[in-house]
This record gives sequence, C-alpha cells and structure tokens, in this order.
Amino acid sequence: MSRQPAPVSLGDIRAASARIAGRVLRTSMAESAALTELTGVPVHLKLEHHQTTGSFKLRGATNAVLSLTADERALGVVAASTGNHGRALADAARAEGVVATICMSKLVPKNKVSEIRRLGAEVRIIGRSQDEAQDAVDRLVAEKGMVMVPPFDHPAVIAGQGTLGLEIMEQLPDVVTVLVPLSGGGLAAGVAAAVKGLNPKARVIGLTMERGAAMKVSLDAGQPVQVEELPSLADSLGGGIGLDNRLTFAMCGDLLDEVILLSEEEIAAGMRHAYSVEREIVEGAGAVGIAALLSGRVRPEGPIVAILSGRNVDMSLHRRIINGAVSLSKEDAA
Ligand SMILES: *Cc1c(COP(=O)(O)O)cnc(C)c1O
Repeated sequence: MSRQPAPVSLGDIRAASARIAGRVLRTSMAESAALTELTGVPVHLKLEHHQTTGSFKLRGATNAVLSLTADERALGVVAASTGNHGRALADAARAEGVVATICMSKLVPKNKVSEIRRLGAEVRIIGRSQDEAQDAVDRLVAEKGMVMVPPFDHPAVIAGQGTLGLEIMEQLPDVVTVLVPLSGGGLAAGVAAAVKGLNPKARVIGLTMERGAAMKVSLDAGQPVQVEELPSLADSLGGGIGLDNRLTFAMCGDLLDEVILLSEEEIAAGMRHAYSVEREIVEGAGAVGIAALLSGRVRPEGPIVAILSGRNVDMSLHRRIINGAVSLSKEDAA
C-alpha cells in the first residue's frame, strides 16, 4: 500500500487548538497515587470528564462548527446522535449562534430528549430506529443544505479531539504510554496523531469493551466490519465505525500500538476505583483506562496517562455499580 500523508496532521491539530481556545476547558491532569503504587510507574489521569457537556466531544464539535463557512453557518448543522456527540454539537452550535438540529427516533428516552433541548438544539423525533433518524439527517442535508457533523469520521472532528493529545504533551512531555478509550476512533486517531507527531516513540493504546468492539474487529479483518451491538456499561463506546469509513480506520491502523478489550466486570471495577479511590464520577467509557491498569493488561511503561473521557452516566446505574453490581440490569439495557 502506498503511504498517503496523514489526513489529519499535527499542524491541523495545532490550528484546531488555536481555533477552539477559550471555548473549551483546558482540563487538568492529576497523578493517581494508588495506580502509581499498583503499577510501579507514575500514572496520571487526564480529567477530561470535567469538560463542558461532560465529555471531550465538545472539542471536535466546536472545531467543526468554527470551521464552517458563513453560508454553512446560516444553514445550520445536523446530527443523529443522542449521546455525548449530540450534547456537544448542540452546545458548540448554540455558543456560535448556529442552529443545531438533532434527529432521534421515538425510542429515545424522554430525559435524553429534554437534555438535548435544554442545550438549545432543535429536536426532530422521526421513525423507530437510529437508522431512520439517520435517514432524516440525510434528507435535511440533501433538501435543506444543512451540514452534517458526524461523531468521529471527519477531519475537523478528529483534529478537535487531537487537541486533547496536545494538552497531554504540554502537561507531561515525557509521557511514554497514553491510554485512550476507543469506539469510532476519532479520539484515538486525533490523540495519537498529536502525541506521535511530537514524540514518535510514545505508545498510544486503544481501549474498548469486548461487547461489540467494531474497530478492533475491523483492524483484525483489515477492513471495516459491522459487528452486532450489545448493551454495555461503556455505552458511549457502542456503534459501528461505518462500512464506508474514510479516515479513522486507516489512522487507527497506522497509529495505535495496540487495542485492548475489557470485560463488563473490568469496566465496573474501573468505575468503582474512579469513584471510591480517585473520587471521580466517570461513565463506563471513561473508566476503561483505569480498568486496564487494574486488571494488569497494560505493560507498565511509564509515565502513563489514562484519559477519563466522560462522565455522562445515569446516576442510579452509577450508584448500583459503586455498590457492587458488575453489569447492566434488564431495565438499563432496555
Ligand atoms: C465518543 C466517546 C468515546 C469514543 O470516542 P471515538 O472518537 O468514537 O472513538 C469515548 N468516551 C466517551 C465518553 C465518548 O463519549
């Protein structure tokens, strides 16, 4: 295969960083005494779950909105996500006075609908599945000229997520291993491009759940593969990478040193440690770095940085996990 220049370069990520400065938080990093003692090397937690809207997705969404032309801004942005990307896009668009339309199916719970509305988005409830909501997005793009901002497979989104990698390199320039939660790969691709652009010897490891690990299965197969979606504590890591993936599949294949899969029990233990020991509330997806360290699955080459990527977990589920539950109950999975 001929090597193409990286679709998102360190220069693109630096430009994104300048563009979004002042609009997203520069989150802090804290050494974990407990994980340092456990692994024998310094472990630092990047507290990105403290980001506005509760996840790093505000970085990519803000960079995408700020990269629109004046005509595009007037037409507005659209997406089908009801999760962290939907929240982030709603918030980023409102901050810039751009209309965001989020399409969702009738099956989306009321609290998620009102949360997205509260962030200022126009909500359209259409159809009975995520696929039908996506069809509605495609129609708004085709008929009204709205701009779709996808959750990961887009250069401005990847560059925005990469600003998290730049911050890590500023806060801990001698980092050796970076642990990144992995789903569609926008975060991992951006962070790895930034970290390896500044230090090619640093290791970047993707972490995801055993249940429906679309990127891992695709990387092993050498092409994007569709996997069955299963309920997981790490719900923000669910979903496919897109059979027509343009950027993140290739970037993750080029840039990630390893992908590690975690069981539901391990993810629950990560959430429990985050809360009880580090005193941080994180969602399942945000706990995979801690989970991998606790289960001894990461070779301890330090300093290590684990990204805590989000905190948007239902608090009654969180309480049950803290009290010892190791997986979703039937009602959570519904
Ligand atoms: C979206 C998300 C991820 C995964 O990001 P990708 O770019 O899809 O790989 C990880 N953690 C949280 C909290 C997220 O919202």
